[in-house]
Amino acid sequence: MRVFTGIAASPGIVVGRLKVVDRQRVSVSEYSIRADAAAAEISRLKSAIATTRAGLESLKSDLEETTGSEHLFIIDTHLLILADERLIIETASIIESGLINAEGALNRTLQKYRSTFAAIEDAYLRERINDVETVIEKILRTMTGENHEVIVPEEALTVIAAHDLTPADILQMDRTHVVGLVTEVGGRTSHASILARAFQLPTVTGVEGITALSLDGAAVIVDGLNGSVTVNPDRETFLDSLQRKRRYEYIEFELLKLKDLPAQTLDGFLMQVKGNVEIPEEGASVLSHGGAGIGLYRTEMLFMNRREMPEEEEQFSAYAAMQQAVAPHPLTIRTLDAGGDKLLEGLQHLTEQNPALGMRAIRLSLSMPDEFKKQLRAILRVSARGAVRVMFPMISGLDELRRAKVLLEECKSELSAAGIPFDRELQVGIMIEIPSAVMMADLLAPEADFFSIGTNDLIQYTLAVDRSNEHLSEFFQPLHPAVLRSLRRVVDIAHAAGIDACICGEMAGDPLYIPILLGLGFDELSMASASIPRVKQILRRCTREQAVAIAATCATFSTAAEVESYLKGEITSHFAESFD
Ligand code: PEP
Ligand code: MG
Repeated sequence: MRVFTGIAASPGIVVGRLKVVDRQRVSVSEYSIRADAAAAEISRLKSAIATTRAGLESLKSDLEETTGSEHLFIIDTHLLILADERLIIETASIIESGLINAEGALNRTLQKYRSTFAAIEDAYLRERINDVETVIEKILRTMTGENHEVIVPEEALTVIAAHDLTPADILQMDRTHVVGLVTEVGGRTSHASILARAFQLPTVTGVEGITALSLDGAAVIVDGLNGSVTVNPDRETFLDSLQRKRRYEYIEFELLKLKDLPAQTLDGFLMQVKGNVEIPEEGASVLSHGGAGIGLYRTEMLFMNRREMPEEEEQFSAYAAMQQAVAPHPLTIRTLDAGGDKLLEGLQHLTEQNPALGMRAIRLSLSMPDEFKKQLRAILRVSARGAVRVMFPMISGLDELRRAKVLLEECKSELSAAGIPFDRELQVGIMIEIPSAVMMADLLAPEADFFSIGTNDLIQYTLAVDRSNEHLSEFFQPLHPAVLRSLRRVVDIAHAAGIDACICGEMAGDPLYIPILLGLGFDELSMASASIPRVKQILRRCTREQAVAIAATCATFSTAAEVESYLKGEITSHFAESFD
């Protein structure tokens, strides 16, 4: 038995078998070609080698500029392998004699090298096959245009273990047999973890070294409640986990009974408790967990795993389906928030050193107004069907908000001219998730219909802590006084301007923070569906008056640790049952 500890990124406990996924492998299909197509296949091979070489050379010169030349010998080794004529000659001969496509032939060359290297006695030389594999896979990836292999597990009860999983990987994966995820990198608020929660896959991140050990096929318990991963559990641990699993599932089941009760405090304040959605299935799940609509629809998932952006019609259908799924409750559609850890295939050329500070969200949308307008028109058209609001992500100041609104007005005029209906009163909100927006909130409020605080990014940018970095989780502090002051400022400014203050970051779904968010005066909390029943339970057990006092006391502390220990004390004395 071996126990690893990481970060509890998606709740639940599962027992399964580990499948270690090597994200470097590329899938290759081999097929027959006609004799007269052989020359074209050989030239495809040559041009893929040339493209791969150009890519490596440009990487080398970038690295020379940024990190110096000291560690570039690996790239030089790869360039030497690429320059070896034998690679072309041997593969070309397989294409000609076997009449198969270039990828298939190159793959066969690789197999041949593998068996040659395996026979070498000297361990150091034998392991050089790794360099050959890396290079050939680079060429294959250039040819197939494939960035990553799609994960398709075939065994029942599979737990995927990978160094890293992107949101695109999780979306694309065949999840039929997948019961849990384990990764070496990533944080609780990275988008891959958010998606894991959307798919209700218990997940632990930050489990260092798990893919390097030969654990493929091993029995595993993933505990997404305490962040542990137990490989080859002994009987006692196994039985103990089963008991914890049953208890957790029983409590969740019991909580669901609250779903239809109002999220109303003992002194009569009705909080808007809504769901966050990423994928089409989640619309129904918001309602089945008792959400009063959708406070955040992350539309970017529709733009992933494809080369072309979705056209207006496709977007319209997706948004209309989501609207219908939650009707008559309101739907808040956030415009594209790509970039950062949510890269789009068509925009891979935007390789950035600092994606979180790069071409992301509203900046990206404003840089491609034609694409942006397709999305805005689709949202406007859906607004004719029921309660819909639009929300812009990562607004840093007035200029961006105004530019986005100009484009929205252009879309309205175009639709009007074409006689296409839309809600003329469509509410336009902005996400407050950059410290500059907090500082500018008083000037932004008169030009917005509501604020929605994205605490995942607000904490990341306020505290300069990468939300996806598993080594920094202790520094990602929602209760840091700087964060609490920002929240208070934004709520107060919103209310002074007569607009709603909402919160849709992960903080809104965490039971510990509910009393303080209620006390700060938030009107709406939007969260992963699964969190809704418990949040309702806590709200129904407090008074707003009591929460206001709690928030006021929190404001008197100078460190996150002090706030946290006070809050935990309050919680244990007032709401112990909600924190089982
Ligand atoms: C946030 O930043 O808190 C947020 C809700 O947006 P996302 O997690 O998609 O960046
Ligand atoms: Mg955000």
